[in-house]
Amino acid sequence: TSTPATVTVTGAAGSIGYASLFRIAAGAMLGHDRPVRLRLLELPQAVAAAEGTAMELEDGAFPLLESVDIFDDARAAFDGTDFALLIGARPRTKGMERADLLAANSAIFAGQGSILNEVAADDLRVIVVGNPANTNAAVAAASAPDIPAERFTALTRLDHNRAIAQLARRTGTPVGRISRVSIWGNHSATQYPDIFHAIVGDTPGAEIAADQTWLVDDFIPTVAKRGTAIIEARGASSAASAANATIDHVHDWVLGTPAGDWTSVAMPSNGAYGIPEGLVCSVPARSVDGRWEVVEGLAINEFSRGRIDASVAELRSELDAVSALTVS
Ligand code: NDP
Repeated sequence: TSTPATVTVTGAAGSIGYASLFRIAAGAMLGHDRPVRLRLLELPQAVAAAEGTAMELEDGAFPLLESVDIFDDARAAFDGTDFALLIGARPRTKGMERADLLAANSAIFAGQGSILNEVAADDLRVIVVGNPANTNAAVAAASAPDIPAERFTALTRLDHNRAIAQLARRTGTPVGRISRVSIWGNHSATQYPDIFHAIVGDTPGAEIAADQTWLVDDFIPTVAKRGTAIIEARGASSAASAANATIDHVHDWVLGTPAGDWTSVAMPSNGAYGIPEGLVCSVPARSVDGRWEVVEGLAINEFSRGRIDASVAELRSELDAVSALTVS
């Protein structure tokens, strides 16, 4: 389609925002035939930096980029928007308790959810990147009663891509020949990268997973702790790979997942796999006609069940902590 899309990016002057915007403008997210109108939302103190980014976007002379507007007011930034990329979040600062972080972010995401509910376009799609991403998405969805909950998602595509990369490295298989990897649970250290249903070249993932020592002591922690390893190596957190995954997520949501494959998406649970409704939990998902559908009916072995349950329990406790804050 060539209907222009309005895309609002929060935290637009931050590292992930900076790494996302140029590729969105180039057509990597919505297709190389779809014009884009960018809206950059920032905190007042970061508006000047966003203006600098807008100057660079202008200098890209992107044929698909119709406009770039900068806002420090969410209502104006989200007015009529089709896509909300919620990247900005309150980072954990030194000495900050987990409860403080949850409280600061639940206030931000409840506010943004209720504004989206009032002013966004009917076809709005939301992806939350700012951490704690799953719970932030659950809070935003709960604050937007008129928007179908399924339009609120959180990013676990980076974890998914990291799992594929580790499998490729382990087996020497090109990434293009690896399919059906699944990330379950929270975008946190408890996430469970599941390869039991994967196809790696011509080898069933279950065969590769049979090396339990590698699976438990190497593969799973390497994927889950990859962000920390990148901070240690780079001296800064992953930005380009997080931006790339955000673009992959929205791209597949709109344009579909490849036939025979699926991806991983944190989305509001429909109760599948015993995951309680109300939680925004990563599951294997296919995009069909612009909607995410859980890949149902996969056989879950005892090992996977334990890992999934542990991450779901963490999601439950995050949401309970936020609800307790809201009530008091
Ligand atoms: P980044 O752009 O690096 O990160 C933004 C968010 O993405 C953080 O919450 C970060 O979590 C999260 N994230 C999710 N997955 C990943 C990943 N794989 N790797 C790294 N980060 C990940 O942060 P910056 O500080 O550079 O920029 C944030 C911007 O947001 C600032 O410009 C700030 O002004 C703005 N902001 C906007 C708000 C709003 O719109 N209301 C509120 C607060 C800030 P984590 O912290 O865990 O790394």
